[in-house]
Amino acid sequence: MDAELLTRLLALRAAWRTHEHWSPARIASQQTEAFQRLRSYAVARSPFYRERYAGLEGAPLTALPPVTKDELMDHFDEAVTAPSLRLSDIEEHLHNLVENDADPSVPWRGRWWAAASAGTTGRRGIFIWDHREWAAVIASYARVPSWAGIFSRIKRPARVAMVTTRRPSHQSAIISATFNSLLFPTLRLDASDSPADLAARLGAFHPDLLVGFPSALRPLALEQLAGRLDIEPRAVVATSEILGVPESRDLEAAWGSPPVDIYATTETACIASTCTAGRRHVYEDVVIVEPVDADYRPVPPGITGERLLVTVLFSRTLPLIRYEMSDRVRLGERGCPCGRSFRLLEGVEGRTEDILRLPAAGGTVAVHPNVFHEILEEAPVTGWQVVQREDGLDVLVAGTPLGTDLQGLRDAIAQRLTEQGVVSTPVRVFPVHEVPRTPLGKAKLVRGLGP
Ligand SMILES: [Zn+2]
Repeated sequence: MDAELLTRLLALRAAWRTHEHWSPARIASQQTEAFQRLRSYAVARSPFYRERYAGLEGAPLTALPPVTKDELMDHFDEAVTAPSLRLSDIEEHLHNLVENDADPSVPWRGRWWAAASAGTTGRRGIFIWDHREWAAVIASYARVPSWAGIFSRIKRPARVAMVTTRRPSHQSAIISATFNSLLFPTLRLDASDSPADLAARLGAFHPDLLVGFPSALRPLALEQLAGRLDIEPRAVVATSEILGVPESRDLEAAWGSPPVDIYATTETACIASTCTAGRRHVYEDVVIVEPVDADYRPVPPGITGERLLVTVLFSRTLPLIRYEMSDRVRLGERGCPCGRSFRLLEGVEGRTEDILRLPAAGGTVAVHPNVFHEILEEAPVTGWQVVQREDGLDVLVAGTPLGTDLQGLRDAIAQRLTEQGVVSTPVRVFPVHEVPRTPLGKAKLVRGLGP
């Protein structure tokens, strides 16, 4: 067990509880101070930010230029504040983690945790945290159950089952492994396993808290309703995908209360989650969220932005200041029966990735986008897109070096689909110059045939 990490986690958990009833003025002043400390740190230690903010050292946050994932990845070695970190070394570390199916809770070089994330352009992002930051990431996820009214104590910790991915380069796998290493019993399951298999393992574990992708939890709810699964989680938490009305309805029917909806990304950790009053609040003491229009002008509460800029106040190793995400977010007002003063998050759009329905024996099978992420994120590509056609799947790959084994890539995807029960679906791989985008600049990674 990592005693230093556990100590930091418990200290943060206690400190953060005192923030939830801050006045709006206090929230604003704390955000400003935390942002200024972050900027000073970044300018002092990161050549990338020093150059970018030249002449803007005293400017307010809203006057700073946003930064995209592509920019950060292109300038990673100059953007990080620890000169010993090289993107190529971190990529090699993540590759080895996956290759050896290693325990991702063990810090790399004794002091770092790293994770990879895909984005709407299919380009892989690499993010890294030190002890202090990783404690904040973990604390943000630990806040979710306590806001939902579930308290985990050291002597009687809540049992958590996570149905996401076991791939050790993904943040959700690293988080669940870390919780487990800190003596919070955590069962890690893979959303791409069959519902019957997942149900058997959940039935043996009896989680207090069930966390997962809505697309993976819904079949489990149906197992429960059909009497093939018998668990009584005190809360069900939906993560990573849009929680749709049918999923929400089935989860509530199966386990008796509406699912807790969280908004989280690899880059930011958890940004918002639902309280006991069933509303989502932004973690304003941890992140500053700015929904903006297509021209980067701020949009007021009640209006959906075209993009979201996030400033992660605890980030230091790879500072994230006005980091641009393609999510379309609508903020609400303040004030909630639960008494928390943090602003409400009314809506999040644009994060949904299609679950493909592909032919299987006797009908169709739902294929989670993770299947493609797992293979294509390891491939030598700068972008990718899977397009469902009437006669099979087209996989578009951009930036493949000459001599790339496209046939091998095709075979790997076809084999994974066969393992999922998919039949009669030829897979074709096409190298392209660039992955096609919508007018808003987005490129959906997985495009289905439509409703
Ligand atoms: Zn509330």
